[in-house]
This record gives sequence, C-alpha cells and structure tokens, in this order.
Amino acid sequence: MGLAEKHAMLSASASHRWMQCTPSAMLESRLPEQTSSFAEEGTEAHGMAESRLDYYLRHGKMMKRYKKCEDENAEMWETVGEYVDICIEKINKARASCKDATINIEQRLDFSPWVPEGFGTGDCVIIADDMLEVIDLKYGKGVEVSAHGNTQMMLYALGALNEFGILYSFSKIQMTIVQPRINNISSEIIDVDELKEWGEKIKPIAQKAFKGEGEKTAGEHCRFCKCRATCRTRAEYMTESIKEDFAASDLTDDEIAGIILKAQAIKRWLEDVESYALAKALDGQSWPGLKLVEGRSNRKITDITGAAKALSEAGYDDIFKPQELKSITELEKLTGKKRFAEIMNGYIEKPRGKATLVSESDKRPAMEIESIKDLFTDDFD
Ligand code: SF4
Repeated sequence: MGLAEKHAMLSASASHRWMQCTPSAMLESRLPEQTSSFAEEGTEAHGMAESRLDYYLRHGKMMKRYKKCEDENAEMWETVGEYVDICIEKINKARASCKDATINIEQRLDFSPWVPEGFGTGDCVIIADDMLEVIDLKYGKGVEVSAHGNTQMMLYALGALNEFGILYSFSKIQMTIVQPRINNISSEIIDVDELKEWGEKIKPIAQKAFKGEGEKTAGEHCRFCKCRATCRTRAEYMTESIKEDFAASDLTDDEIAGIILKAQAIKRWLEDVESYALAKALDGQSWPGLKLVEGRSNRKITDITGAAKALSEAGYDDIFKPQELKSITELEKLTGKKRFAEIMNGYIEKPRGKATLVSESDKRPAMEIESIKDLFTDDFD
C-alpha cells in the first residue's frame, strides 16, 4: 500500500471492514490519524523496495546498498530483497514472453468508478500479453495475508483495469501478495469479466459506506478499526457468548467452544479498551471508580562501572553474570536471515509447540492424540 492511500476515506486496505460494517469508514474518518512503529517500518520497507526496483529498471542491475538501512537493519535489506527478487523474476519473465511488457512501480490505481473517491497504490504492476499482475508487498509478519478473496487486491485489480484496460487487451488479472518475513507468497488469478461483476456487486455497498449509512456490524474485521475501543456494537459482540442464560446450568459444549473460538478476539478487545482508557487518563480524564497509580518497577543500577568498582573494593568478586547471547530475533536482525541460517546451522532447534485449541478453519493440521500425549508425558503416566 502506498502512502497516498491513507487519505482515501474508503481505502482498499480497510475494505474488508467497510464492506462488512458500512458506517465504519465514516466513523473512523472523524478520529485522529494513528501511527505505530509497525506502520513506520512498513513505510520504510516500501520506500526501500521502490528505490531498489526503480534502480533495477533504470540500470538493469541490482542496487548494492540502500543509503540508510544496510548497516542498521540487515533483516529489512534482506527481506525486502526477497520481494525485489520475486518482482524481478516476474518482470524478466514478462519481458521474455512479450517485448512490449510494461512495468509500473508505485502505480496509482484509481478504482473510483466502483468506490467513491477510491484509489490506492500498486507496489508493482506488470502488463504482458493476456495478463496484468499487481504485486503487493506486505512487510508485517503478525497476520498471514492471503490473496484469495482479498478485497484490497480486488480493488487494486479494478484500479488496474480502470487504468490500463483501454490501452491493453488482457483478460485476466493476477493478484500477488509477497510477505517475505514469513515466507508467504499468495496469488490469485481472476477473469476480467468476473472482476467487473464483483465490482458491480460492491458498488452499492461502497455508496452506503461513503455516506456512512447502514448498521454497524462487528466481527474479526473490527481488529484494526479506529473505533474498536469504544464501539458498543463490538462490545456487545464480544460479550454476547457470556451473557446467555448461564445461571440455569453449567456451560454446554457449544458454549465452551464458542468462548474458546472468541478468546483471542476477546483478549484483544479488553486490551484495546484498557489502552484507550489509560491514554485518556494520562491526558487528564477521570474514569468512575478508577484511579491512576504507578505500576511496579524494578530498582536499577545507574552506573555499572562505578557499582562494580565499589563492590570489588568491598571484597566481592563474584559479581558478573556470564555473557549472554542476544535473542534469535535480534541476532537475525543483525546478520540477516540467510547469513544467520548459514552461521547457526546445527545450533538451533525448534521445540514442539504447546497443544492449543483453535478453530477448525486454522491452517495447521490437527494433532494426533498420541502425539498430544507425548507433550504431556508426565501428566499421562
Ligand atoms: S469496531 Fe467494528 S462494529 Fe464498531 S464501527 Fe468498527 S468495524 Fe464497525
């Protein structure tokens, strides 16, 4: 997603939300802009990707280093490089099969014929022969993003159709998401006719969302909504499974399963409400029945050298901890993923994960009951 997109009220990246909860976009637009270190990191990675692809297109060779980041963040240089390599492979393949192949980096994609004032930015758009491809870099690693049925990608595809459909005669659009930090590459191909049909279907929904009309509807899509902490509809959705008539008897199996299925979302909701209330309290707001206190803190040594000297002089020698390695994530950031794998070959093991109950739709295969018992040998013996 490019920088400019965040100014469109009906953004492609929030489309899965406003398509399900049509008033959300208008409500969000009234709240102040939010930023986070993750968003800033994503912007930096996109800037780096753009420069490196642009350099390749102008010079026909790879950029050797990026001014700011190579030393500071080897992981970003390397993971963005994986995305760049994928784009270049696709670019070269397109050029080999079609001498008039067109490549556009950070291409504005205007999908306003379907979504009022809607536009976004395609990170890399390749047009060759019968196919147009939109490639989107996702630098985040918290949530794996699939291209299948992805409304953001479909809106980009509509934008690409709007932009290039008259000049070129492609009948299919490929939508590709590259999420290099979790090795996720997801692609979906859609026929132009099918895409146009979908565009017509979402038109009235987008009109409604643009006017802020419709009922608020809560669900997974609330997760990054700016209204998520104070929205009553979301609060009701989160608590509905624990409001039912529990007094009469114990929870049924269905009720227990329902609570577990929602547990992560409920935890996130509680955190959202808590951090919202805390931010307001720090801003001077008082909340009924609540007060601000200082959390627990640990004592810390202000001058390590001075403290060590004082302890030695007092006759204490055994005062230093053994040297400790940084965490795997920190080391990987230092060396880059590939170099880390080379150096650390034989020194890393991945223990089995703890048994966890998740939704049947989760991609991980179900554990065999025997292997589950292995994890709890002590309990089962
Ligand atoms: S929190 Fe959920 S229900 Fe509330 S406005 Fe946002 S998307 Fe809609």
